[in-house]
Amino acid sequence: MTQTVASGVSTAPPGPYVAFDRMPIGNSWRAGRIGRAAEDRDPYTGDILVSIPLANEQDLNEAYQAAADAQPKWAATLPGERAAILRRAADIMEARKEEIVGWLIRESGSTRLKANVEWGSARAIMLEAASAPYKVQGRILPSDIPGKENRVYRRPVGVVGVISPWNFPMHLSNRSVAPALAVGNTVVIKPASDTPVTGGLLLAKIFEEAGLPPGVLSVVVGPGNLIGDAFVLHPVPRVISFTGSTPVGRHIAELAAKGPLIKRVALELGGNSPFIILDDADLDLAVNAAVFGKFLHQGQICMITNRLIVDAKIYDPFVERFSSRVRGLKVGDPGNADTAIGPIINQSQLQGLIKHIATARSEGARQTAGGDPQGCLLPPHVFADVTPRMRIAQEEMFGPVVSVIKVSGEEEAIRVANDTEYGLSSAVFTRNVERGVRVGLQVMAGMTHVNDQPVNDLPNCPFGGEKNSGLGRFGGDWIIEEFTTDHWVSVQHQPRQYPF
Ligand code: NAD
Repeated sequence: MTQTVASGVSTAPPGPYVAFDRMPIGNSWRAGRIGRAAEDRDPYTGDILVSIPLANEQDLNEAYQAAADAQPKWAATLPGERAAILRRAADIMEARKEEIVGWLIRESGSTRLKANVEWGSARAIMLEAASAPYKVQGRILPSDIPGKENRVYRRPVGVVGVISPWNFPMHLSNRSVAPALAVGNTVVIKPASDTPVTGGLLLAKIFEEAGLPPGVLSVVVGPGNLIGDAFVLHPVPRVISFTGSTPVGRHIAELAAKGPLIKRVALELGGNSPFIILDDADLDLAVNAAVFGKFLHQGQICMITNRLIVDAKIYDPFVERFSSRVRGLKVGDPGNADTAIGPIINQSQLQGLIKHIATARSEGARQTAGGDPQGCLLPPHVFADVTPRMRIAQEEMFGPVVSVIKVSGEEEAIRVANDTEYGLSSAVFTRNVERGVRVGLQVMAGMTHVNDQPVNDLPNCPFGGEKNSGLGRFGGDWIIEEFTTDHWVSVQHQPRQYPF
């Protein structure tokens, strides 16, 4: 029932957003012009959620051009105006929570728990970004040239292109979009083809309702083989903020150097997180953390635990307790509140995981939990007695499949943890906190969590990876740095004496 508060403003819940078959390109929402549509499907039911006429290169060009045209005016708005839009966007997310959570469940196969986590983290980013307009700082630097004043202006980079994956689509797009807008850039998003709504169109609706001027944020939903490279090669964007797999990230970095203008890339790539359980760990806490830190969102998270590295002294009880907990996880409809494991995003990802499982068996790993797939549902799989060089330990398992590796002592645990091309997140369990920190600092990773699992992302903390897990950091002041650039302007206050 509609209620009216004293001010006369209606508090009725807003009607759901409609018309996701169009995309915001420049000043209007319209259909892509390629002449064919993509079916956006629910991975659990297989139902078509929306059919979207796709964008072509001309649409992409218009989006970038509109972003370039809108940028100077947007950068000149007062910080308070930009902050107010971001705060309003956070309020809109609150008012539309069920609508957003529903889309995350239907489009990305999120369990209700994961959808709520993602809604919360995407909203927290809005609020953190609302403080960013006030945090951008210039500097005055000393000068060895008499009479010269050195000013360093910190300015927006201009236009930012954002490419995001399908696993945490709203969060991963917004962690670039919100701070990039906050510091005066305009943005074009290319969401993943499995999640065009939650990775882009829904955010655009929220920002539009919050009062973001037209042209400041565009979304292009189009086939990667047609507009993917062009999105990166285009001369307008000055930074490409890419989140996705390592092979595609490497390709993006090459393209960024090849286009007519070299541009900066921020790369958040794949992971193979080690979860070290030392001989003095509290086993119950470690088991609980490992179950959550492997199977949230069916294991489709870059930071997710890939390898449980367990000291030989506690290995057998750990494997037994962990496997027994995993066998009890409820697999099924992601919309049910008690479902722990929902669907894999699509058949192609599922088939890749099935191959990994077959390889693990053929390489001699001992399976202690598992089951047959049904539709896109894959029951959680645990492989014990994995050795560090088996493929299951070396490759990123982007799904509910985990290795347990036995080690003798701290040194071997660190060596095994580092025996991978990746270096995103990690975890160490021990009753001795300082021992945990000491071990953590020897893991080549961007993030280590002592007595917690590796899946942690806070809006004010530096998020990012080492080695093939990427370049750059999100969060807090780090992301302000990523989306701004320095301009040194010197002023010669008195005539300068030149040598000739
Ligand atoms: P992906 O690399 O296949 O795709 C990522 C995005 O890149 C998609 O939007 C895709 O359409 C786009 N893309 C593909 N080729 C492109 C091209 N040539 N030019 C421009 N865009 C192109 O990854 P995915 O399967 O969507 O996501 C899973 C991967 O992402 C995993 O490896 C995971 O670890 C990684 N990931 C990393 C982080 C992180 O923060 N480090 C977060 C989430 C996911």
